[in-house]
Amino acid sequence: MHLSISVDNPVISAGSPLSGIVDLVLDKPAIIDAIRVRFRGISMTTTMQFSEQMYSVDLAHGKFKVKEWHLHVDVTTFLFRGQNGTEMAAGRYRFPYIINVPVFSRCDCLQRLEEYRVQRKRQTWICTAAASRTVGATPLPPSLKTNNDRYVRYRIMALVERPGKMVFNRSKVKNIIVVPVTLIHTFDPYWNDRSRLIREISGDAFSVKCERLPDNYFQDGSLQRSDELPRSLVSLGPKGTNVKVPTQLEVVLFNDGDAAILEPLKLQIYAQIQVDCRSRIDGILNIKLTSMRITMKSLTTGLATSEKTSVIKNTLFRANALDITLQPESDSGPPRFRLDTHAFEDLDISKIVPTFHLLSMRYHHQLVVTVGLSFNGGSAKILKCLCPINVVSGVDYDLDTQRLMPPRYNLGDVQFDIDDRLDDNDGIFDW
Ligand SMILES: [Zn+2]
Repeated sequence: MHLSISVDNPVISAGSPLSGIVDLVLDKPAIIDAIRVRFRGISMTTTMQFSEQMYSVDLAHGKFKVKEWHLHVDVTTFLFRGQNGTEMAAGRYRFPYIINVPVFSRCDCLQRLEEYRVQRKRQTWICTAAASRTVGATPLPPSLKTNNDRYVRYRIMALVERPGKMVFNRSKVKNIIVVPVTLIHTFDPYWNDRSRLIREISGDAFSVKCERLPDNYFQDGSLQRSDELPRSLVSLGPKGTNVKVPTQLEVVLFNDGDAAILEPLKLQIYAQIQVDCRSRIDGILNIKLTSMRITMKSLTTGLATSEKTSVIKNTLFRANALDITLQPESDSGPPRFRLDTHAFEDLDISKIVPTFHLLSMRYHHQLVVTVGLSFNGGSAKILKCLCPINVVSGVDYDLDTQRLMPPRYNLGDVQFDIDDRLDDNDGIFDW
């Protein structure tokens, strides 16, 4: 007997049908009770707990590990059910299957929080999941691999049951990548308003050498003398002046900070010198963009804030040897320089697993923008800005009409880095 399963769409959004074919080859006639396909999804989190009391298993630092498993989906579809020992003739059989991937997780631990809190102190928690397959408050989480201690995994398998106790034939398990939905309210007048901007600003002041400035230059709203005298003053000689240059880095995100994984991520980056008018720096400061780096930090935190955060960093853009002279955007007001247009048009975030939140795990993101600026040919000064960003799947589920909106793009292009090990040693994956 040879059993295999194929999947038409191994990347699937929650709320959509997963389909494929189960292929059974019988070398000789066999009695078959049932043929079924099972689709399951679990999450595993390991967190550290401080030992308080009798349950504690004391390790050196008074902490112990708590492992917990949650069952998010478990769907079985029967493709064949035999009657009283049905014999199937030798040959090849193909059974198409369709499984509807739910929108919401079946984990109902939120409704059993007391029990969860107590049991969790005993090192393991395995959720039994609700009997009903429907609505919870938590959308199905995306496939995720952070490390061996925290993951979300979906798998499919075909099984043939034969008479006798526990006589199974199984196909190899296949990984499925689940793309989660974002819960929206289409009745909310702002739900699709993409014009809402989020601005993050960071700043620093740099000491810069420039040509000698007359005393009457130093007024309110102009650059100020730098206190940093020593070495640079000597090398400057009598003709130079050291000034402090207060500089702001500003990052603008669109769509209220939501970014969909398969849409190009647009952002605007500006540097601003904090003087009252560009005439205060014209002929005084020559500013160059020397480097730019954009990194997506994906952070996983556990239940308690004291728990260790694990971080995955993805570099979205990097240029180290830029030499771009910057010109202010306008003639009036403080001099503001647009930086992103010199480096990139948009950024690809198709590998980033969307933001989600489970009882035991929070997965969220920060965009880290780092730029290097050089003033009057001096060494690069670095400015860094951290922007919280909400990475969404682009698949929306409308809570007002209880309907899945059409996906904004072809989900086959999703590139999540998932756990491709196919060992199924996890207890909860006991088929
Ligand atoms: Zn649970």
